[in-house]
Amino acid sequence: MMSGVQSPTFALALSLSALLACAAPAPRDARVGNPRPNIVFVLADDHAAQALGCYGSPVAHTPNLDRLAREGVRFERAFCGNAICAPSRASILTGVHSHVHGVIDNAATFDGSQPTFPQALDRAGYDTALFGKWHLKSAPTGFDTWQVFPDQGEYYDPTFDTPQGKVQVRGYATEVLTDLALEWLEARGTSQQPFLLCVQHKAPHRSWEPGPRELALYRGERVPKPETLFDDYASRSSAAGEQQMSIARHLTEFDLKLGPPRPKTEQDIAAWRATYDAENATLREHPLSGDERTSWNYQRYIKDYLRCVAGVDASVGRIMEWLEQHGLAESTLVVYMSDQGFFLGEHGWYDKRWMYEEALRLPLIARWKGVIEPGRVDQHLVQTIDIAPTLCELAGAACDARTQGASLVPLLEGREPRDWRSSLYYRYYEWPEPHHVEPHFGVRTQRAKLMRFPRLDAWELYDLERDPRELRNLAARPEAAGLRAELEGELHRLQAQFGDAPR
Ligand code: CA
Repeated sequence: MMSGVQSPTFALALSLSALLACAAPAPRDARVGNPRPNIVFVLADDHAAQALGCYGSPVAHTPNLDRLAREGVRFERAFCGNAICAPSRASILTGVHSHVHGVIDNAATFDGSQPTFPQALDRAGYDTALFGKWHLKSAPTGFDTWQVFPDQGEYYDPTFDTPQGKVQVRGYATEVLTDLALEWLEARGTSQQPFLLCVQHKAPHRSWEPGPRELALYRGERVPKPETLFDDYASRSSAAGEQQMSIARHLTEFDLKLGPPRPKTEQDIAAWRATYDAENATLREHPLSGDERTSWNYQRYIKDYLRCVAGVDASVGRIMEWLEQHGLAESTLVVYMSDQGFFLGEHGWYDKRWMYEEALRLPLIARWKGVIEPGRVDQHLVQTIDIAPTLCELAGAACDARTQGASLVPLLEGREPRDWRSSLYYRYYEWPEPHHVEPHFGVRTQRAKLMRFPRLDAWELYDLERDPRELRNLAARPEAAGLRAELEGELHRLQAQFGDAPR
């Protein structure tokens, strides 16, 4: 009945299960109709879920990401396992938690000889490319082509590490990356080899330097404050009060754009000055203090953050448009996610690190036309460790035997998996610099969250159904003793399952 070459229509008509059942790795010159999708994997840096329109933000300018969600599935409950860049990126690549891949903090070097999903896809015949932020110190492995920022990278005129050495590219990082990605796609010509394209933005990471095209957004507007901007940390452990990541006290002049402009071209400098100079002059003439100054800092911070987000959104739009123009929208899975969440003024903070929802949670959107039902919102608990097994399964590639995550393929298909996880493990290590956030670990279920601060011998417990903003620590409340015991048991079970044992 079937020749070796299937029509694209036939391939799309097959259910994903059927495809996977016969998804033996294809040869590198696989032709038209290969049931394995191309994969565009877009990883933003520090993009909080609450800064996307499709996740409920009334102010984020994310029309392209919102469209991606309308045309695919949006995971409402997606989380990291360690809310800082390098550990979370390593978990995405490997499918295992920090204590297994070894990158427990941003100072650690990733051992690139361990199995990752790009290596698996490369071996399974994918053409693989990476552009942007890597942040794992060792050279990328598993990519036929790569061009990455050293460390965090720069927003304007970024330098890149490449296999051939360093290069600097004039322009704004988000746009430069997009250009590199599209040039790579163009250069593939009519190749029928499936591809993995990783576009890994610096934005909207600190120090939130907007691009020239986004600088005019939000000028003259006031972004609503989060309800918890002036959180007093009552009922929490002492950890929350000891951090150094507050909007009131820990943003620098550099963060707040009170110094010289970052762009180098006259036109971009003019856009920068038009955005900041008048407000800066007013602040110098009429200095603010206390809550008024905190509110000023918040406005400056959140607008710059959202401008950076808008740039990332435009990049996603350009890639989606290219796929459509080249007839690849249907054969390409587009995944958008962030390495963790971020505080956008909640609890008075910027940055991440904490197991509190704003940092723990991340946006995760996947579109594969004809396979993923458009507009679905998934409520399962999913985590960074699930990405590698998912992409390996879709590519018909062998999964790392160490994998601690679960493939999201049933969820992409809209099927109810048997025995899906009912809780997530989290552990944060980095101490004391740069932000004096106490090491902690914990468990989150659909309903509640238990956090343990071992150096303080302290616990925090939140009922997420009744207290979604996590303002009432119930750890010492007699009426919550049952819930706490249940979560402690679950925490120990997860530690045994994952082979981790802090107490
Ligand atoms: Ca990050």
